[in-house]
Amino acid sequence: MTLGSPADFALLQQLRHQYGVLKDVAPGRCRHDNGQLMVLCSDGDVFPKLFDYHRQLLKLDRLHPLAWNGGGLRLDVHSILGQHHNSAEVLLNDIIDARKLKNMSVIELWTHYPCGAADLAGMGVMDIIQSIVNAKQFLRQSFGANDPVKIIPLCHVAWANHKRRSYYIDLARYKQFINQK
Ligand SMILES: [Zn+2]
Repeated sequence: MTLGSPADFALLQQLRHQYGVLKDVAPGRCRHDNGQLMVLCSDGDVFPKLFDYHRQLLKLDRLHPLAWNGGGLRLDVHSILGQHHNSAEVLLNDIIDARKLKNMSVIELWTHYPCGAADLAGMGVMDIIQSIVNAKQFLRQSFGANDPVKIIPLCHVAWANHKRRSYYIDLARYKQFINQK
């Protein structure tokens, strides 16, 4: 089981408190009447906790999970995970099918930390967040600018004190953070 590094946990704290990149998940930001697709990691130690936490927090009753090792990172065409087994294309086609099946136009793009699949691919927190940015771009380009699809980037963190929390990734703030560095 991946434990995560103190440096990456410290960076997550900074992204949350200092830079406003990670924001608490709130119903207004993430809840949609017709439900939503969840692209998330299939890690069996994490999936049920993440899923239940999210569903209960937002009082969601219509979720359609698409789970694969690494979750949303699989949609980053520039990453090892996205290129492995042509994952990004395969998962994109699955999402297209799921949208039709469930008539959903909201896609939650999840990563989590610590993530064993990301760790195996040599990815730290910075790589993970950049990968979710790339994944969102890939989906947006694939669906086209006029598609009403809403893509929500999210990160679930298992903090060292055993508390679990989910965060919305504010991409505008992330861009500011990158430019400041
Ligand atoms: Zn994982």
